[in-house]
Amino acid sequence: MPIDQKYIEAIKAGDIVAFPTETVYGLGADAWNPDAIQKVFTVKGRPSDNPLIVHVSRPDQVYDFVRDVPDKALKLIEAFWPGPFTIIFKKNPEVLDAVTAGLDTVAIRMPDHPLAVDFISQTGPLVAPSANKSGKPSPTKAGHVIEDFGNSVLVIDGGATNIGLESTVFDLTDIQPAILRPGSISRKQVEDVLHEKVAESFFHHLKTPRSPGQKYSHYKPKAEVQWLSGTPDPLNKEVLYLLLTPEISGPNVITYNGKLDLLAKELYDRFRQADHDGYRYIAIEPFDDLTDHPVVPALLNRIEKALS
Ligand code: AMP
Ligand code: MG
Repeated sequence: MPIDQKYIEAIKAGDIVAFPTETVYGLGADAWNPDAIQKVFTVKGRPSDNPLIVHVSRPDQVYDFVRDVPDKALKLIEAFWPGPFTIIFKKNPEVLDAVTAGLDTVAIRMPDHPLAVDFISQTGPLVAPSANKSGKPSPTKAGHVIEDFGNSVLVIDGGATNIGLESTVFDLTDIQPAILRPGSISRKQVEDVLHEKVAESFFHHLKTPRSPGQKYSHYKPKAEVQWLSGTPDPLNKEVLYLLLTPEISGPNVITYNGKLDLLAKELYDRFRQADHDGYRYIAIEPFDDLTDHPVVPALLNRIEKALS
């Protein structure tokens, strides 16, 4: 399906348009239009010191934003683009301060979603933070975007996103390369490409986070999120259970049967659902025995931020 020209015209006119990526829906604005970028911050209620990720439709568009592309970045681009992998570069002087929140670095990724790539190839590079109001969970369906913004934002509907958690953010600008936000591309995958150890720098206790976004608390559903301890018998009807083992069933039980990818894909939707349905608690079965799965650090990171 070709993208309706009204969305492309909207971006060219300095408006904002939400679109699907493989991670979550992004709120797109022309990366070279300061007024459009300001709209993104205003509409989201995003703190102005939290920089945006530039989304490109071709790897060579990186050269419009950065001073140089280190060899390591070339290897990572080759391995992970298009995909859920954001790279932080030293920016060139033309990049707008509104994009980088005044930092001398810029975050860039090429999404792996046919609608996103088609859209950006017609508009040019877009900044695209998650298309939710700040403080709400990232949207993984067009309906979530409408829930947060009503009709004030145009949305390209591409159905539910595949991954459901935001991209891995990787910083190459420091002496010590580090993952600043865990995503579905794991530390091990990065180390296998670079043939070196990389650090993880995304723990809440960091006094001076390397990524401004780490300062901000994430969404906590109204329902209290807890790790499940033991077997729920009998089931408590005030609880929405997210279980990994299939033994128990009930109207308030969602079973993932060991499929952590599916839990990641649906997590934010379940958070929103729990609030709609008025649950008091969300109990998630711990997955200690599935730690080899690459999505575990990202999933733990998002769940721990939502814990009561
Ligand atoms: P969002 O687009 O809502 O998924 O958020 C983007 C994330 O990338 C936030 O956590 C930002 O703080 C982070 N980020 C964007 N640009 C930079 C940068 N230049 N340096 C460090 N972190 C960045
Ligand atoms: Mg966000």
